[in-house]
Amino acid sequence: MNWGLIGASTIASQFMIDAIRAIDGNEVVAVFSSSDQRGEIYAEQHSIAKHTASLNDLLADLQIDAVYISTTNEKHKEQALAAIAAGKHVVCEKPLAMNVADAIEMVAAAANAGVTFATNHHLRNAGSHLKIKELIQSGAIGAVQSIRIFHAVHLPKNLQGWRIDNAAAGGGVIPDIVVHDADTVRFYLEEDPASVVAIERAESMGQGVEDSVMSIWSMPSDVMVQTHESFTHRFARTGVEVNGTEGSIVAQSVNTQNPTGEMTLTNANGSRQIEFSNHNLYARSMQKFVDAVNGNGSPSATGLDGIKSLAVAMAVKEAATSGASVDIDYGGL
Ligand code: NDP
Repeated sequence: MNWGLIGASTIASQFMIDAIRAIDGNEVVAVFSSSDQRGEIYAEQHSIAKHTASLNDLLADLQIDAVYISTTNEKHKEQALAAIAAGKHVVCEKPLAMNVADAIEMVAAAANAGVTFATNHHLRNAGSHLKIKELIQSGAIGAVQSIRIFHAVHLPKNLQGWRIDNAAAGGGVIPDIVVHDADTVRFYLEEDPASVVAIERAESMGQGVEDSVMSIWSMPSDVMVQTHESFTHRFARTGVEVNGTEGSIVAQSVNTQNPTGEMTLTNANGSRQIEFSNHNLYARSMQKFVDAVNGNGSPSATGLDGIKSLAVAMAVKEAATSGASVDIDYGGL
């Protein structure tokens, strides 16, 4: 497949261009940037043949089969709808949109047009998270009682732009990271959180948006879930704990873009280290997308997964703002 990039972004440059090119027969042939000059430099830096400042031109390009959307969050909806109308398959960055109704509209448009649509939730592609799910499903820890997700990081300087000061572009740690943790928990348990309570702070980076949040989610199965997301934690390590009646999984440094971390399983027999695959997260995600376009299986994270992770994040925001417990509104899905 030939791909067009919608957005001359950091994530495409750091991970996604390589992930696309890692798949046999797949190439990035064009990039759209709202700035002609930025697009030209970006295309040259990444050996992309074409660049344009006109989204219509990119979408009219018959050489392009699929697009990867990684602009700021408020642009995803309009760009995805235009790409779908042009018959392109779409991988869209998280959060899919600024609200659940818009995300539902995007996913419904793709279904109606018969194009494949995916959400770029990378963590469910990690060897670590796949292993945790496998351990849970195999009964290695018995019945799951609780999950704690540690996702407090220090936002790198080069990403301290719209994320920390532009609510209208989708800034704030809740749209940025809570969506990923919602997806991970849904992936592990195969159920949707029902309601949340939360507190948020603007500690040091956030200007008009939150830079730290903690929340507690109630699950239909009664598993207790606690998550912590932040941009401001210079020395913290990410991780996951999954505690069950027969054992506990502790995974450290696994909520990252790279295949890192270590994991232990503790039960009545003691503790042992668990090995897991160190494959590239994004390459797996894109391979599964290409397979889905070719009629084999479905994307790693579908449009519906993107809608649901966004719904959880929206509820966390509302709970943190109001101080009340909020039932999650999945828009009837
Ligand atoms: P960037 O800030 O790097 O890029 C976003 C947009 O900013 C680009 O589309 C570009 O616009 C514009 N831009 C880039 N450089 C400049 C500049 N020098 N001056 C002005 N504007 C500029 O964003 P990220 O790559 O960090 O994130 C993009 C999307 O990807 C977001 O939706 C984010 O949530 C998501 N993301 C997902 C990750 C994942 O693992 N799934 C990880 C990181 C991000 P234009 O295209 O018009 O040139």
